[in-house]
Amino acid sequence: FNVPTPINEPILGYAPGSKERELLKAALADARATVIDIPMYIGSEEVFTEQKGKVTPPHDHQHVLANFSKGNKNHVTQAIDAALAAKADWENLAWEHRAAIFLKAADLIAGPYRYKLNAATMLGQSKNAYQAEIDSACELIDFLRFNVSYMSEIYKQQPPVSPKGSWNRLEQRPLEGFVFALTPFNFTAIAGNLPTSVAMMGNVVVWKPANTQIYAANVLMQIFREAGLPDGVINLVYVSGPDAGDVIFSHPDFAGIHFTGSTGVFQDIWKTIGNNIHKFKTYPRIVGETGGKDFILIHGSADPETSSTAIIRGAFEYQGQKCSAASRTYIAKSIWPKVKEYMLRDLATFKMGGTEDFGNFINAVIDEKSFNSLTKYIETAKTDKGVEIIAGGNYDNSKGYFIEPTVLVVDDPKYTTMCEELFGPVLSVYVYDDKDFDKILDVIDTTSIYALTGAVISQDRYAIEKATHRLRNAAGNFYINDKCTGAVVGQQPFGGARGSGTNDKAGSMINLLRWVSPRTIKETF
Ligand code: GLU
Repeated sequence: FNVPTPINEPILGYAPGSKERELLKAALADARATVIDIPMYIGSEEVFTEQKGKVTPPHDHQHVLANFSKGNKNHVTQAIDAALAAKADWENLAWEHRAAIFLKAADLIAGPYRYKLNAATMLGQSKNAYQAEIDSACELIDFLRFNVSYMSEIYKQQPPVSPKGSWNRLEQRPLEGFVFALTPFNFTAIAGNLPTSVAMMGNVVVWKPANTQIYAANVLMQIFREAGLPDGVINLVYVSGPDAGDVIFSHPDFAGIHFTGSTGVFQDIWKTIGNNIHKFKTYPRIVGETGGKDFILIHGSADPETSSTAIIRGAFEYQGQKCSAASRTYIAKSIWPKVKEYMLRDLATFKMGGTEDFGNFINAVIDEKSFNSLTKYIETAKTDKGVEIIAGGNYDNSKGYFIEPTVLVVDDPKYTTMCEELFGPVLSVYVYDDKDFDKILDVIDTTSIYALTGAVISQDRYAIEKATHRLRNAAGNFYINDKCTGAVVGQQPFGGARGSGTNDKAGSMINLLRWVSPRTIKETF
């Protein structure tokens, strides 16, 4: 079968007075008007428990959006049982019927659920309308449609040679067991992609989202069910990490994990899986996208305004909480005064506040833990010698977790904020002597343990070539004359190596191949 050729979902602009703006405003008002009760989804059951957690917008502590039912180890066991019970029917379903479910889910998001899902992301994760549109609508639709097309390619692949008298075949079997999807708060698209890309290949899934993303995860689950996903194929539970880990990583049928989150958590999980390796029927697939310390390098030949825009957008869209966000920049001394002027000019126009007001470019950071960690870095920077705060530096958590976009200029390229992952709206700038371009490439490559995204801005082809070559292991997604964020499914497969993950490129055939276990069959005539 040929599946529909995917094209990237067009991004709506939400201009003042537009129909889409009205519809999104209405969805926001609807969501704010009712406090919903969110169940776990296990097999055919919607499971409500006595123990509740609250969902409040990160930018508005006073408003309760929902109460979700917290689960425990028993719920994890039930979710695994439900997944395993659904497995035989699901994996035997012809792949085009699985494909149809995910294509329908994409259409539901593109159509009737677009505003509801965007509103859920805007309120639950404090993401502005434009970022929500790019993330929860377009990127997730793209993940679903492009993955279906990659999946069809995978099923068509066969060994090239069958000598006379025989027929060699390759059967792409699902993994033997269930897969655990552990998803982050920062992209609703990733939360949707991690369980669906696994399920698409005929696997069954236990899905645990970040607590700060449950509100939109609940909408996703409704969409998957409405699209016809059979009960038990994806089971959604809200349990603590240790409760999930204890049950899942000691279960004989544990067959893999699809993860996006912190490097520390991923490494702990890897160790646990290693320690328990004798308990599993098969070697589990471990696929993870983890931290980043993403860079933008500005060469002396770069256009200052292009550089400033790349830095600001890369560093501060969604409050710097994309794994791909620029958090360290290296700028040639000769053009720094101009770049700085443009940066300060544009930063002065940014408004900060709740997502309900579409004029707010900056919203809140995700939670108290993140707020406390970021403000600690800012306070330390205020007293450290050799650090100048040229923008921002103020914060306020009385109404929501607000932190101004903050720019630190540091005189040491190995200063803490140049090395550690901060995950928020705090950017560090190091100004280098133009003649030290080669040396700065070495510094960039050796400063952090991560290697997710990076960019070089330059009009000098020799400099571009040098940076591209010397930094080939410093970023899994490398941009020339652009910001280091905003990878588009089908255009820039996303992921990094080193401390940033297993680099199995989200939204690619490489990724889907991790979720099958091929069997070679030779038949002799
Ligand atoms: N794909 C997103 C981008 O390129 C980042 C995803 C992430 O934060 O993990 O900006």
